[in-house]
Amino acid sequence: MVRAENVHKSFGHLEVLRGVDLEVRAGEVCCVLGPSGSGKSTFLRCINHLEKINGGRIWVDGELVGYRERGGRLHELREKEVAAQRRSIGMVFQRFNLFPHMTALENVIEAPIRVRREPRAEVRKRGIELLERVGLADKVNTYPGKLSGGQQQRVAIARALAMRPKVMLFDEPTSALDPELVGEVLDVMKDLARDGMTMIVVTHEIGFAREVGDSLVFMDGGVVVESGLPREVIANPKHERTRAFLAKVL
Ligand code: ATP
Ligand code: MG
Repeated sequence: MVRAENVHKSFGHLEVLRGVDLEVRAGEVCCVLGPSGSGKSTFLRCINHLEKINGGRIWVDGELVGYRERGGRLHELREKEVAAQRRSIGMVFQRFNLFPHMTALENVIEAPIRVRREPRAEVRKRGIELLERVGLADKVNTYPGKLSGGQQQRVAIARALAMRPKVMLFDEPTSALDPELVGEVLDVMKDLARDGMTMIVVTHEIGFAREVGDSLVFMDGGVVVESGLPREVIANPKHERTRAFLAKVL
């Protein structure tokens, strides 16, 4: 479902991604771990083309992201085509970025109505179902300011799901939350995984990675240092850098 091949990304002279390879099959959950500055967020942003890569290729659901290949050469897609690709990729950030002047439901249905021009009544119905699914049936008409961080993050997840993405990318979705609110967000993600959603999750929640992840990728210095079954990588890291990192977060 998601495949990255030798992905390179630089900001000026700073080489942030130095040849990242990754494969996530449909329905799988891939957890990405790594120290601060290792390029995890940048990599996620490359997957939905919020960042242009300088080398390599990324495919989502068989489609090359951001480019069209013709005669062995890559041609950039137009902004409209990129936007269409981006719609099939849901993204949830550390900060929830909800619209403060809109209720939970309005936040969820905004994009499908405005971007996809789907009929309002239909989208509303789906929006309410999604809010029920993330455990917020009673908060449909509540404004973000009146929601806890965990509730806001669950609205953000429902909002991403409202676009019917093929893949969900999570960038440290629980690291801005008070510890007692982390569980409710992880539970929603677990539920999504059980439902067969393809997910890439940048997280330091080792328990989640072990329990829910189909694969675990450890990044450092802009490369994948090692990857494998979460259980095995966590119990038996092969590289010193992975070992040192795990010793700190476990
Ligand atoms: P963290 O765990 O702190 O979130 P990360 O692994 O997500 O770290 P990135 O945010 O991908 O790391 O950043 C990797 C490197 O790229 C850092 O050195 C960062 O300063 C740099 N970087 C990221 N975005 C930009 C940008 N837009 N312009 C310049 N440098 C950037
Ligand atoms: Mg980051």
